[in-house]
Amino acid sequence: MPFLKALAATASAVVLGASLTACAGSPAGGDPGTGGKVIVGIKFDQPGLGLKEGDGYTGFDVEVAKYVAKDLGYTEVEFKETPSAQRETLLASDQVKMIFATYSITDDRKKKVSFGGPYFQAGQDLLVAAANTAITGPETLNGKKLCSVTGSTSAKKIQDQFANQVQLQEYDTYSKCVDALASGSIDAVTTDNVILAGFAAQAQYAGKLKVVGKTFSTERYGVGIKMGDTKLCNAINTSLAKMVTDGSWQKALDATVGKSGFTPDTAVNPPKPDACA
Ligand code: GLU
Repeated sequence: MPFLKALAATASAVVLGASLTACAGSPAGGDPGTGGKVIVGIKFDQPGLGLKEGDGYTGFDVEVAKYVAKDLGYTEVEFKETPSAQRETLLASDQVKMIFATYSITDDRKKKVSFGGPYFQAGQDLLVAAANTAITGPETLNGKKLCSVTGSTSAKKIQDQFANQVQLQEYDTYSKCVDALASGSIDAVTTDNVILAGFAAQAQYAGKLKVVGKTFSTERYGVGIKMGDTKLCNAINTSLAKMVTDGSWQKALDATVGKSGFTPDTAVNPPKPDACA
């Protein structure tokens, strides 16, 4: 009997411990204003947006992440790679607190995660060899080999709307697609124009690749957070608005995406954050 009693006491202590942790925030970071370290998800291979270079990180997503994290009172940011297909899982399992990774806000994703923002608007496009004159838009992809990334809106759009025309090759990152394009094993890469422009501007692809320049979707980049964390969502939106007003948003964009020669659509950028549900 005493043994069972002890066991029951341990069990309730464990449960209590778990709920206390949940109140204080996730293992990836506390609530806004509580300070400490925050784990933030970004891409590691997208030049101009989220790129790991040695021990450092560069890109527009990285700059927005740093601004927001600091404004929310976190004293340290740890960046973790969040490939497209893993984003919802990494948020739900508390491995990252926020994701800034060319992460489009969609109704489908809102069933699993919530979003602050948007903080940028892009559109799906195509990247082809500089000499390619045959591919001028998605309707010209008949019989072509097209590469995109698993778990992205880009791959889904092709599956949903152009699947009977193209052979879709999916990798886990866009850099693998771009390598395949440069080596000639595929005909085109599809994802957001701003991502493609960043790759095309890389020194190793100079003069070899071009963005077609005819977008066929609307991609609104949000800050992915755990589903239902309205407090965090509101805090992020306040930070994003501040980032635009004090000029930091434009400065960050010019210093990153601007360097790839990409001109964002100023009619829709910077976008106004959505209301938090
Ligand atoms: N913005 C699109 C998406 O969220 C494509 C880029 C990406 O895969 O990160 O799926």
